Amino acid sequence: MLPPSFLESLSAIVGPEHLTTDAESRQAYGTDALKRGVPADAVVLPADTAQVSAVAMLCHKHSVPLVPRGAGTGYTGGAVPSQGGVVLSLERMNRILEIDEANLVAIVEPCVLTGDLQDAVERLGLFYPPDPASLRISSIGGNVAECAGGPRAFKYGTTKRYVLGLEAVLPSGEVIKTGGKVVKNVVGYDLTQLLVGSEGTLAIITRIILRLVPRPPVQATLRATFRDVEHAVAAVIQIVRARVVPAALELVDGESLDAVGRNLGVRTLAPEGTGALLLIEVDGVPAAVEEEASRVQEACLEAGATEVLHARDEEERQELWRVRRELSMSLRMVAALKLNHDVVVPKGRIPQLFQLVARIREEFRLRIPLFGHAGDGNIHVNIMVDPTNADEVARARAAERVLFEGVVALEGSISGEHGIGFSKAPFLALELTAGEIALMQRVKAAFDPTGILNPGKIFPPVH
Ligand SMILES: Cc1cc2nc3c(=O)[nH]c(=O)nc-3n(C[C@H](O)[C@H](O)[C@H](O)COP(=O)(O)OP(=O)(O)OC[C@H]3O[C@@H](n4cnc5c(N)ncnc54)[C@H](O)[C@@H]3O)c2cc1C
Repeated sequence: MLPPSFLESLSAIVGPEHLTTDAESRQAYGTDALKRGVPADAVVLPADTAQVSAVAMLCHKHSVPLVPRGAGTGYTGGAVPSQGGVVLSLERMNRILEIDEANLVAIVEPCVLTGDLQDAVERLGLFYPPDPASLRISSIGGNVAECAGGPRAFKYGTTKRYVLGLEAVLPSGEVIKTGGKVVKNVVGYDLTQLLVGSEGTLAIITRIILRLVPRPPVQATLRATFRDVEHAVAAVIQIVRARVVPAALELVDGESLDAVGRNLGVRTLAPEGTGALLLIEVDGVPAAVEEEASRVQEACLEAGATEVLHARDEEERQELWRVRRELSMSLRMVAALKLNHDVVVPKGRIPQLFQLVARIREEFRLRIPLFGHAGDGNIHVNIMVDPTNADEVARARAAERVLFEGVVALEGSISGEHGIGFSKAPFLALELTAGEIALMQRVKAAFDPTGILNPGKIFPPVH
């Protein structure tokens, strides 16, 4: 527990109404979408950079763990204390400060919701492409700290491609500024990109300068169904061969489709015998979109699609996307515990990833629905577990390791977008050498010599 004098100093910084220590808040801020973690000892809600800096300085002086938190939707326990301490929630720093139309730049505080920024810039004919499925509930700061991705990453790239500059508070309380409004800047090391994806372990991000692009005038959405995932994956390769880069290229397997059907109370969402479907979106100027949509349709039919639907209006487009949007919720109905792994392999290796998962399913007798961003090889492998069944939990844990080892052997990565947090930390050494991990730890020590900022994350626990 934190000493009263420390809590009094915290209260003096943020104001008593923005410091909480009651059991309910400590518990609420001690969990995220992973649903595991240790309760905070105290939760502070600073109003601005100066208060964030003062809180960091205080924690640094007293060697108290400090955990930055955005909206708490992370899947790897990143915003959750691993050993108590102070959770610093940025939720009050939620303003869009500037949309600079001349320079195609937006400047935001960290806890602006991603979807709110998208709506604001789209009203001006601009576009902020990164679109995690959580965009209505997750913050830009959290997206930057995790380098979030989404369906559009295949064409537009992930969050890192849009971060031009940052203001951040070091664990000592020092405020730094990196990058700026310019798209070219090669002065010194690129600290902006070092902080992107650093999972709140190097600094607390308090302001973000984002690159915008013009909003594509039109888009076309297609849904192609297949007998099995092999044919769907063949279509992905065929689309790439046709030299089309869709804005989204999402794959949903038969098991996931059944789960959505059951959740929505619909007998079948696709033609009888559908084992996989692809949702494909192309965007751009009308003539190009029309031409690319027909090339996509041709590629799918050549790869054996049983049906290709083309949305005729916005209502039909939303209807086609509904299956994808309902997935997370629907899988929750399949089993109470979902070990959601966002593995990624080079696209050409997706068939081998599916073969690997098929082997794991059989060997460990587990339900593993698959869906994901087929365009960039980032497939969500959902190991569905009944948490009250100890034997099944043990099989699932063993299967995770086999999955990660297999993915690395396929030249892939154990996380494409959710980060490492504490849940994947034990597996870091499967992908990185001891020398690479040690180098990263020296970088961490340069930013955070006393190790107070988000301890217990990314690096394997020392026994
Ligand atoms: C239903 C659902 C769907 C999802 N879909 C996707 C998806 O499609 N793609 C994807 O990439 N992710 C997805 N996620 C995961 C999650 O939404 C993302 O990781 C998101 O970027 C987290 O943002 P957040 O604001 O909730 O951050 P939090 O969960 O609060 O924090 C995440 C990490 O960032 C750090 N952090 C947060 N804010 C700051 C800051 N200002 N400064 C420094 N560090 C900070 C925290 O310490 C923590 O390590 C999904 C989650 C859910 C629940």
